[in-house]
Amino acid sequence: MSLAVATGDTDVPAPSVEMAVARASSQRQAFCGLAGIVWLHRKMQDAFFLVVGSRTCAHMLQSAAGVMIFAAPRFATAIMEERDLAGLADVHAELDRLVERLLERRPDIATLFLVGSCPSEVLKLDLGKAAERLTQAHPGRLRVLAYSGSGLETSFTQGEDTCLEAMVGDLPSRPAGERALLVVGTLADVVEDQFSRLFAALGIGPLHFFPPRRSSELPPLGSGTQVLLAQPFLGRTARALEARGAQVLAAPYPIGIEGTRLWLGAAARAWEVAEARLAEILERPAARAEQALARYTAELAGKRIAFFPDSQLEIPIARFLQRECGMELLEVGVPYLDRRLMGAEVALLPTGTRLLEGADVDEQLERVRAERPDLTVCGLGLANPLEAEGLATKWSIELVFSPIQGFEQAADLAELFARPLIRRERLKV
Ligand code: SF4
Repeated sequence: MSLAVATGDTDVPAPSVEMAVARASSQRQAFCGLAGIVWLHRKMQDAFFLVVGSRTCAHMLQSAAGVMIFAAPRFATAIMEERDLAGLADVHAELDRLVERLLERRPDIATLFLVGSCPSEVLKLDLGKAAERLTQAHPGRLRVLAYSGSGLETSFTQGEDTCLEAMVGDLPSRPAGERALLVVGTLADVVEDQFSRLFAALGIGPLHFFPPRRSSELPPLGSGTQVLLAQPFLGRTARALEARGAQVLAAPYPIGIEGTRLWLGAAARAWEVAEARLAEILERPAARAEQALARYTAELAGKRIAFFPDSQLEIPIARFLQRECGMELLEVGVPYLDRRLMGAEVALLPTGTRLLEGADVDEQLERVRAERPDLTVCGLGLANPLEAEGLATKWSIELVFSPIQGFEQAADLAELFARPLIRRERLKV
């Protein structure tokens, strides 16, 4: 394994997952894929997410959305009652009526997502067929797509993957061989704008983002499309894009200064931008980011951190905290390890990092209690008990809801980890 990538280097490390990876398939605590609706509905302003599920799904979605419930939210749950099991034909008719009522109230909806869940009543429904029927019922007016957010098939961030995968088939075609860059994965608008400026300065384009801000303005796709993944949990989407001729560029993710530099460098190489030109364009934003980051590295350096598997962002963030902030990695858990999409990231972790795929939450809790890291990154369900035991925690959900990608956000990301440590220090006084 090579660790020879200096911060100023824009060469992408060779994808390789030679590191020993421990695996466990026991219970773990994480949100299901429905959680993705919280950030997807904020991104696509003309889309509506209708979960076909149970009261549990409705409660889960409300607690994941937390304070972000607006007067007219663009998501809802169609609750399947047990009595609905008696006649599936009626369920489809009921779904159609519900959608009609929704469209009367919300004529601004351009795309309706029917989101499957795991109650057995829902598993018996063919939501794909329902989506086709509803699209045909509103020609030119409404696109209806179905995807699964079920906890049996998806964990937390995978809901975005299944959603985007469902959209790939509808992307319009770009003429064969016509070159374009497609950045894939939900990014905050402010981050997209920063990246747009950098790509424009590098002369890289045409540039599109997927998902788009408006679901009715889908980016074109063709054999000349180069894909740069902005999130590490989009394996199915990447494969669907490749099946339509696109090429996925190998790169670490744009987390931290080094990750952002390597990520932009991968696109620059595909566009044959001269290394000197790349260095010149990145010099200023990277220097500003290094200055801002220095405020937090003193607090983080030498501190020990452990990650429970939850968001799938664990490896890029661990890489950033170790290489740019000087933290010591005790254990890095991920829900699953996509070797192809994570190869460039794993190559940047220090040799001997304890990397875990899946997890046994009880065993991991035992290790955390024995090793007492300075900071533990975990889901909401584990944070309070660990805090009660005197361990500082960071909710992994914050990492998905906050803008953390790009040069300008590197210091904000470090601050997310420094804050609980600073708070704990103050409490000691
Ligand atoms: S795990 Fe299944 S039942 Fe629970 S909220 Fe998620 S989709 Fe609904």
